[in-house]
Amino acid sequence: MTYDIQPAGSHFIDGAYVEDTAGTPIPVICPYSEKQIATVHAATPAIIEQALTSARRAQKDWAARTGTERGRVLRRAADLMRERNHALSVLETHDTGKPLQETLVADATSGADALEYFGGLAGALTGEHIQLGEDFVYTRREPLGVCVGIGAWNYPTQIAAWKGAPALACGNAMIFKPSETTPLCALKVAEILHEAGAPAGIYNVVQGMREVGQALITDPRVDKVSLTGSVPTGRKVYAAAAEGIRHITMELGGKSPLVIFDDANLEDAVSGAILGNFYSSGQVCSNGTRVFVQRGIKQAFLDRLTERLKDVKMGDPQDESVNFGPMVSQRQMEIVQGFIAKGLEEGARLVAGGARKGDRGYFLQPTVFADVTDDMTIAQNEIFGPVLSVLDFDDEDEVLARANATDFGLAAGVFTQDLTRAHRMVAGFEAGTCYINTYNLAPVEAPFGGSKLSGVGRENSKAAIEHYSQMKSVYVAMGAVEAPF
Ligand code: NAD
Repeated sequence: MTYDIQPAGSHFIDGAYVEDTAGTPIPVICPYSEKQIATVHAATPAIIEQALTSARRAQKDWAARTGTERGRVLRRAADLMRERNHALSVLETHDTGKPLQETLVADATSGADALEYFGGLAGALTGEHIQLGEDFVYTRREPLGVCVGIGAWNYPTQIAAWKGAPALACGNAMIFKPSETTPLCALKVAEILHEAGAPAGIYNVVQGMREVGQALITDPRVDKVSLTGSVPTGRKVYAAAAEGIRHITMELGGKSPLVIFDDANLEDAVSGAILGNFYSSGQVCSNGTRVFVQRGIKQAFLDRLTERLKDVKMGDPQDESVNFGPMVSQRQMEIVQGFIAKGLEEGARLVAGGARKGDRGYFLQPTVFADVTDDMTIAQNEIFGPVLSVLDFDDEDEVLARANATDFGLAAGVFTQDLTRAHRMVAGFEAGTCYINTYNLAPVEAPFGGSKLSGVGRENSKAAIEHYSQMKSVYVAMGAVEAPF
């Protein structure tokens, strides 16, 4: 099967595509051809109202089903997603520019994993029983109600599923607003969930820019907000959600350290640095873009890295042999070019890349800077593009302090053959997601999220259940009630 690039409607509400052309048109631009391939419209107040009304209504019945029944729907949706992986991946590649080679294994498949995992967990969600002599307390795990999910543009299908699966498993309804840069694939997640038996309204998708996000998260009918986005957006969304004391999950940006000791397996360390800097053309939140390399291995590391970069193949991302795609948009390409210029200006040594490739498609060469120092702009800011900075270090205490000297705390990694040192390092990292001798894997079974400015809460794993449900505590008295008078 193949999907039409132009969706049947901009939004998916109450189990069907809907359109309201009064909303601001949002062009969908293919990052490879630079051509407009579809148009959606931002949600009008009428569309937002429809989404909220239908989610509110659907949630009560959904929550009244058993967890096993809800889980069955999610697992069916996971199967449908896997069956349609190719079509979904082609669409994701049109929308994001990420190579098909990647989207085939990292987007709908990861979304399906989340639906399957939380589908399996749904029937096992319980409260607990606490005996207090004759009396006892039991707890009920209850849904929050209507959850709003707001997505970034780098993993549109995955983010839509990572937020939707635990929300629905716990008996909530979800209204998802994709990034305006990549609006297409969340609609397919909604379509598949409903085809799998989700009741109309339980997973709605509305398009739009920040105004639509704001309208949703400030509505009194909304109980929870989960954002994947940048730190500045996180601050605004967190503040708006705080007004209504809403539950929140914040998956925000990072500037993560990747520490490579002299004794590391060189080939693995280079592979880790490639995964942590150039996968999805560097547009990954958890990327380890501050690569601290111990002085003894530095030259060998740089030599091998630049050699491996010869295998980069850019081109039509729909060609499965292409392994490096364009940036998602002209704007993102220009932001990254600005950082590269800043790196050169501040005295970093350009070892590889540094320029746009060709004049069609938003391609940037994978870029490596050496002799980067902690105070440089490229060492401090999240770039969100294919720019790897190598910083030198001498010893463990020094590198740990420097690795942590950032307001971000999303991820961190260490390559070394010395396992006690590896565990010491991760114990010391101020980051939510750590790696030893690998980088950037995010299986659904493991909690994922940030500390410090990089976020609040965790996605995936059993930990996500805590962020999509609440406990009700019930005291049961078995005897007479004693009162002072
Ligand atoms: P962004 O912050 O610009 O936008 C994210 C989403 O928030 C979009 O849907 C946008 O429309 C919406 N939005 C923006 N302002 C808003 C407001 N005031 N109120 C409500 N909604 C608003 O982020 P982006 O450029 O789409 O994505 C890149 C960023 O996302 C990077 O910082 C990256 O690190 C981060 N990210 C984090 C994770 C994670 O899991 N930690 C994953 C992917 C991306």
